[in-house]
Amino acid sequence: MDMHIVIVGGGVIGTALTAALSDRTEVTLLERGSLGEGTTAASMAMIHRQQPIPTNYDQRLRSLAWEQYRPDLDELTHTRIGSLYVAETETFADQLCEAAPALAECGVETAFLTDDDLSKFGIDEGIGGIYTPEEGYFEPDELVEFFAARARERGARLETGTEVTGIDPGEPVTVQTADDRIEADAVVNAAGPWAPAVDRLVGLDFPLRHTRGPILSFETGSTKPRPFTLFERGLYCRSHSEGLYVGRFATDFAEGESLDPDERRAIPEEFHEEVREFATAVPAIAENPILDEWVGVRTVTPDGRPLVGETSVEGYYVATGMSGLGVTLAPAVADLLSDQLSGTDRELIEPLSPARFA
Ligand SMILES: Cc1cc2nc3c(=O)[nH]c(=O)nc-3n(C[C@H](O)[C@H](O)[C@H](O)COP(=O)(O)OP(=O)(O)OC[C@H]3O[C@@H](n4cnc5c(N)ncnc54)[C@H](O)[C@@H]3O)c2cc1C
Repeated sequence: MDMHIVIVGGGVIGTALTAALSDRTEVTLLERGSLGEGTTAASMAMIHRQQPIPTNYDQRLRSLAWEQYRPDLDELTHTRIGSLYVAETETFADQLCEAAPALAECGVETAFLTDDDLSKFGIDEGIGGIYTPEEGYFEPDELVEFFAARARERGARLETGTEVTGIDPGEPVTVQTADDRIEADAVVNAAGPWAPAVDRLVGLDFPLRHTRGPILSFETGSTKPRPFTLFERGLYCRSHSEGLYVGRFATDFAEGESLDPDERRAIPEEFHEEVREFATAVPAIAENPILDEWVGVRTVTPDGRPLVGETSVEGYYVATGMSGLGVTLAPAVADLLSDQLSGTDRELIEPLSPARFA
């Protein structure tokens, strides 16, 4: 492939795509700040295989991503802690009970847990759940640096401190920055929560909304890893070297907003309150000091699947709307979009096409 492709945004998606494409063609990545400083830095970076209603398609996509990660595991820190999804109502427990064999059929080692089994994990409030022992997390900054290093080795140009301020579509596409006008055969929007602003540069308006991802980091004094645990009420905890993170998992488009991703957000008092109540379910966080806190921003779509692929604007592609799964899916998104840019549309990219919202 003899093309020049410009990627806008140097988070996990932009760097994974640059690494995948730079094996085939000339690539320039433009990042307005530093690599990985956007949503990726705010992430829990878990590789999620669990779904309360697993679909064959979504599991195939996640498998494709995991198969791409797997050969690089000796170069990356992947901390396997397992993952629990805890039902707090009978209805949801029934749903998880059905999900367990469906996930197993998709190749994900899964066990359904009763309330007795849950109490062995120190959880007394659940009435059932699923456990997937293979799941774990990456270090987001290390992951971005890994993809970036691979891309550089393959000859890609990665420019930081370079904001894209204009895009003139056509053949070639012209990408405008403060100091330069760069001609390319294609440009890819991988700008995370800033994606709507980049889409507007070419007159596109996709259904993308933002949800808030508050995180409180507790120093629990215990370094014993415990499974990533998501409760039906939407709160989750994930262990780290000094304690536990507690966050809210929110990816519902209907509850989404249009936020300014640059705004600094404080954790709202209601979240502190909610977490204090949560301490009955996770006693490890009661009475322990808060080490750090932040609010990340997820970018969500109406059907919870990313927008990946060509658009109606000539030479303009998107890899946006990761709906809370950007780290899980990055290598699959990169693989599928690299193929499309090289002229091969694989079956797995079709359900991600931006045209589904045309
Ligand atoms: C609290 C929280 C926890 C999460 N946990 C998980 C998890 O456990 N597992 C999982 O799979 N996913 C998780 N996610 C989601 C995941 O982090 C994101 O889907 C992923 O990081 C998105 O990556 P990205 O590269 O698309 O965006 P970003 O990392 O935001 O990167 C976009 C980049 O584009 C740059 N940019 C923007 N505009 C321009 C411009 N005009 N010119 C140049 N550069 C520009 C920005 O500076 C930014 O660096 C979580 C998200 C949050 C908020």
